[in-house]
Amino acid sequence: MEQKNQMILEVESRSCNEGLARIAVAAFSTQLNPTLEEVADIKTAVSEAITNCIVHAYEKETEMIRIRCSSRGRELTVVIEDTGKGIENVEKAMEPLFTTLPEQDRSGMGFAFMEAFMDQVCVESWPGKGTTVTMKKVIGRQNAVFE
Ligand code: ATP
Ligand code: MG
Repeated sequence: MEQKNQMILEVESRSCNEGLARIAVAAFSTQLNPTLEEVADIKTAVSEAITNCIVHAYEKETEMIRIRCSSRGRELTVVIEDTGKGIENVEKAMEPLFTTLPEQDRSGMGFAFMEAFMDQVCVESWPGKGTTVTMKKVIGRQNAVFE
């Protein structure tokens, strides 16, 4: 039987909680026996998704961000949900270098990093209602003898 586990964490959209969420997800992922590089990849992806909730979804408001981690065998799934302003055009938002905040020195690379560091990134958004980012990564692939 495949091992399964789950963690749900909700934090206020404050920048101090970005580090908290990143470390909590990294700690959860250690149960899958990841390499240091895999942990670093997960932390970067989570950090980008949480930062997006803080700076884009809620702007100046402080609202809740929900982080759900689950594991099934060697696969880690991280779902990051906000109930903020949403994204009008997800396809466009996910293009590298696209940003709606160039004046705040945003580089538009957050989604590109998430896609580079995780195996799968799925973004669902409802304008005015919120955004859900689902990321998956198989841990320990480089150590595996068989795929
Ligand atoms: P960077 O991440 O490099 O600082 P960025 O945040 O603008 O810049 P991405 O993370 O790739 O770049 O996001 C692209 C765009 O998608 C953002 O500029 C913003 O308009 C929109 N966006 C991303 N996440 C959310 C979210 N959770 N809620 C609302 N809009 C979002
Ligand atoms: Mg970003």
